[in-house]
Parts: sequence; structure tokens; C-alpha cells
Amino acid sequence: MSRYLGSACKLCRREKEKLFLKGERCQTKCTLDKKRGKNVPGSKGMSRSKVSEYARRLREKQKARRVYGLNEEQFRHYFERAERLKGLTGDNLLRLLETRLDNVVFRLGIFTSRKQARQMVNHGLVIVNGKKVDLPGYQLKNGDKITLKEKIKENVMIKKSLERSVNFPSWLAFDKQNLTGSVLGLPSPTEYSHPINSQLIVELYSK
Ligand code: SF4
Repeated sequence: MSRYLGSACKLCRREKEKLFLKGERCQTKCTLDKKRGKNVPGSKGMSRSKVSEYARRLREKQKARRVYGLNEEQFRHYFERAERLKGLTGDNLLRLLETRLDNVVFRLGIFTSRKQARQMVNHGLVIVNGKKVDLPGYQLKNGDKITLKEKIKENVMIKKSLERSVNFPSWLAFDKQNLTGSVLGLPSPTEYSHPINSQLIVELYSK
């Protein structure tokens, strides 16, 4: 499966909003912040061309895909899984994406970006319920415990990341002392990482 290897900032520019794909840099040196006032939506002087319904739906899907770092095939697969679950497909979709292991490790504040979190999972440095899990898309459930391998716990990059103040969603808990996170339940729509209109994605795939 091919993965996008180009500039992350280009993806934000394409979606015309900050997707926070580069960790700390997104807070301090974001190119979109510098350009605010020139060509960012909502800013003065921006030209608003008419956008078709199809384009709106497509952009929302692309935004979600980029936030969670998935390719088309992976994203479609999540959508199909969401359709098979009980409840609203759009909510199911975002819940599945939020409870991916790489996303949870990122949201616990251990890493500054999902990309970094994904790399660490891929390298087998993340432990779930006492066992190594090297699948970034591993689906976490209520009661799961996440920690890191001992050898990485003293890593400078992780220590720096943990110095940040992070607002945990209510469905996650984190013991900073022992670097152990817990899943306390399922995320509610108000606690997803990024504002995404999942209904537009459902409409896109329903055509
Ligand atoms: Fe680049 Fe991050 Fe800003 Fe996006 S939010 S444009 S990835 S610095």
C-alpha cells in the first residue's frame, strides 16, 4: 500500500486548514499561521469560489484520511467496517479511527504527532495489555492498557513530548509516572481529535 511521502504542510494547504501533521512545529512554526490573512478560509481578502456538493464531500473525506494518515484503500476499508456496525455509520467510522493504537498513543501525549506514534508502534516499542503490538491500526477497546518498552521510556524525544500540557479526552487516562495509558470507554463525537463532518463522508460513499 502506497503512503504519501510528500510535504505534510502541502496537505494542510490543500485542505485549507491546519491538520496538525508535524507535531510541535504545528504550534510554533506553522506556515498556514504565517499566511493567515492571505489565503486561509475565513480570513479577510480570501476569494470564495463556489464549491460543489461533491467537492465538499470529497474534501471532508480527504481531510479525515490525512488527519489519521491513511491511504484510500485503508480508509475505504474503515468505512466498510463502520457500515457493518450497529448505529450511525459516520459515528462508527470516526470511533474506529479514534481508537486506533497510533492515534491513542498520540492523544496520550507520548508523541507529538500521529506519524511519530505510528513509527514507534511499527518498531515494536508499544505494549498493549503486556504484549508487544506492532500494528498502528490495532483497535483498542475499553479496559486496554498501553505502555512502552522499558528501553524507550528514557528517550529524550518522549521526555520532551511529555513536558507538554495535554488535554486528555475523558475516555483515556494516563499515568505519567509509569507511562501507562488506559482506555476508559469509547470516544464521544465531541471528543474526536479533529472536527470532521462524517455525514459528508457517508454521503460521498453512498453515491
Ligand atoms: Fe504544516 Fe503542521 Fe501547519 Fe499543517 S499544521 S501546515 S503540518 S506546520
